[in-house]
Amino acid sequence: MAPKDSDCIFCKIVAGDIPCAKVYESENCLAFLDIAPVNAGHVLVLPKGHYPTLMDIPEELGSDLTRTLSQVGKAVMEATGADGLNLMQNNYEAAGQLVHHAHFHLIPRFSDDGLTLWAQSAYENSEEMTKLAAEVAGLLK
Ligand code: AMP
Ligand code: ZN
Repeated sequence: MAPKDSDCIFCKIVAGDIPCAKVYESENCLAFLDIAPVNAGHVLVLPKGHYPTLMDIPEELGSDLTRTLSQVGKAVMEATGADGLNLMQNNYEAAGQLVHHAHFHLIPRFSDDGLTLWAQSAYENSEEMTKLAAEVAGLLK
């Protein structure tokens, strides 16, 4: 059975104890409108089970999650007439995670919405970038 956390607001939404503006449900995932949207139509997609971060989500949920993200993303773009769509996902408080039940933000974007999400390059030079790539790759062997 999928894990639950009795103190978690998203587990309460999954259980139906707190209402949400639901847009889609699959076997393992739920999608509903974010209560404080960046743009109207901003949706949260989450596994029904309580997994604190992306790295805790079991691999076997991967295909349900990616299918749900793709289908909901298409519907959100069509319903809002968006020109683009951002997929965002925050892990741990340092990255802006407020709800510790892993979730994905689908944010409809408009050519003139004025939002800027990415900072300038954080590398001093290309050697620094190459060294870091090798370090990460080494941990994946
Ligand atoms: P994050 O900062 O990635 O953890 O995002 C948490 C998101 O959950 C925020 O964008 C909130 O607006 C949203 N949120 C919190 N409570 C609710 C709720 N009851 N219904 C819908 N969205 C919520
Ligand atoms: Zn939860």
